[in-house]
Amino acid sequence: MSAAGSIFTRIIRREIPAHVVYEDDAVIAFLDINPLAEGHTLVVPKRETERIDALGAVDLAAVGRALGVVAGKVVAAIGCEGYNILQNNGPVSGQEVPHVHFHIIPRAAGDGLGYRWNPQKVTPESLAALANRIRQAD
Ligand code: AMP
Repeated sequence: MSAAGSIFTRIIRREIPAHVVYEDDAVIAFLDINPLAEGHTLVVPKRETERIDALGAVDLAAVGRALGVVAGKVVAAIGCEGYNILQNNGPVSGQEVPHVHFHIIPRAAGDGLGYRWNPQKVTPESLAALANRIRQAD
């Protein structure tokens, strides 16, 4: 965390403007300034950590609760057929703002945003070994 806080912390402190659509003690949600679709909204825990695995159970539960509320409000307002919830961790994943946030991206048929990634080819044995490593990891 920078001394001044992330750009999202500065929005939370009302040091810079944003179009806030939801706020509670632990979470804020506002419109993305460069939306992929009308209604693209960011849901952000007020506690600033870069990655979701550092956030902690209390704030994660709060953001999970808010996600459902805000997604429902976006659907009601936009009338979208569906939506994606995306969340990037680390620059290699595409994260630009190092403060946990969830994207709610309204979707419509033929919107051109796509929805499939290219899966790897794996064997059942490699999946079993990998699952074991992840179960045993701290
Ligand atoms: P990510 O690549 O997951 O870190 O996404 C960061 C998102 O934050 C991008 O979609 C940006 O358009 C959005 N963003 C950056 N600055 C602001 C801001 N001041 N207000 C609203 N959204 C922002």
